[in-house]
Amino acid sequence: MIFDKKKRIAILGATGSIGRQTLDVVRQHADEIEIVALSAHSSVRELIMAAHEFHVDHIAFSSKDVKDNPGLMDMPSHATVGIGHEALLDIVHLPEVDIVVNALVGAAGLRASYETLKLGKVLALANKESLVVGGDILMPLTGGLKELLLPVDSEHSAIFQCLEGEDHFDIYRIWLTASGGPFFGKKFEELEDITPMDALAHPNWSMGNKISIDSATLVNKGLEAIEAKHLFNIDFEQIKIVIQRQSAIHSMVEFQDGSIKAHLGATDMRIPIQYALSYPNRWETPAERVDFAQIAHLDFYDPDYQAFPALSAVLEAGKKGGTLPAAMNAANEVAVNYFLKTQIGFNDIARVVTHAVEHNSADTVESIDQLEAVDKAARLQAQEFIRKLMR
Ligand code: NAD
Ligand code: MG
Repeated sequence: MIFDKKKRIAILGATGSIGRQTLDVVRQHADEIEIVALSAHSSVRELIMAAHEFHVDHIAFSSKDVKDNPGLMDMPSHATVGIGHEALLDIVHLPEVDIVVNALVGAAGLRASYETLKLGKVLALANKESLVVGGDILMPLTGGLKELLLPVDSEHSAIFQCLEGEDHFDIYRIWLTASGGPFFGKKFEELEDITPMDALAHPNWSMGNKISIDSATLVNKGLEAIEAKHLFNIDFEQIKIVIQRQSAIHSMVEFQDGSIKAHLGATDMRIPIQYALSYPNRWETPAERVDFAQIAHLDFYDPDYQAFPALSAVLEAGKKGGTLPAAMNAANEVAVNYFLKTQIGFNDIARVVTHAVEHNSADTVESIDQLEAVDKAARLQAQEFIRKLMR
């Protein structure tokens, strides 16, 4: 797609961590980007404020519960308002939207990613669960055109950038970096009594609740390995996870000749968000510049699979592929919700995810409907297992 005017974007999940940071990027580059449409689940006030600030023509709330919210009266008079999950998809279909930023959380983002690519629009993807669940369907829709699916996840943006100008056949492996999360160095037994408050305190990044818990269990890194497999069309065995404590290296690509390209930068998600919007160009940074003398050390470690068994389970699902990652992802979403409500313990998340990987099959992926059915069944199965755990 060639842009000779402002890029016209829609942001799905505009009130979340990635959504808000996307708004910040637009604030700094208003001469390059125009927001056509915004969505939120149920944060009426915040979305309406953003709609006023950015003169947005279309807004959508994916939660039906907002329909009687008096705050809706304050929306810009010229704007259309849609309510319900279908309203998200209506935004994707607006003819004036060129780029969809998918900053939704969880498998709930899959349909929007699918519709975006099906329409031949550019998908700037933060919602990694879309690829984890539906990579087998989404990737063929790009027809191999990498400019149609631009990763926002920092590791994948890093890898994408390291691969610019390189030949796919020259990739030896990918070093997927991980911070190690808030419980780096702890043993499994020490994690049994962790509370949501402990787990939400990430050392290097400030993020939404779900991904913060995924980072604490290291499930996030497993999801990212599956995301990388799909995005860069590589074998699962070519992905090597390494803990990089400072989160200064955002990932690396190692080539046949032994050369390794790394992507470094500030730990600020606005950089990869902006790159997905500026691609193939670069714009002035939204973040502080890095001073290497301040970083001083780069420390690397192998992940501790004994302490974080959920990571092994997620990788196992990724290796087997098919519909298994969809079942695993659904079980993880259920477990994270129960943990956030303090109804199960921290290590129970790993138990639920492992159970899902051991009790679901890896069938060939055929359709979005099939994946949604697998997702639904795996949620019920996980709830059933959690009831047993709680007894
Ligand atoms: P968040 O929870 O802060 O925001 C999620 C957004 O989605 C909100 O606007 C919310 O209103 C909306 N939403 C929630 N449930 C929904 C539903 N069922 N249907 C429709 N909309 C719904 O999440 P986040 O941290 O911004 O993460 C968004 C995505 O980006 C996730 O897939 C996450 O893994 C990925 N990601 C986030 C970060 C980060 O730094 N936060 C980094 C890399 C990747
Ligand atoms: Mg990431």
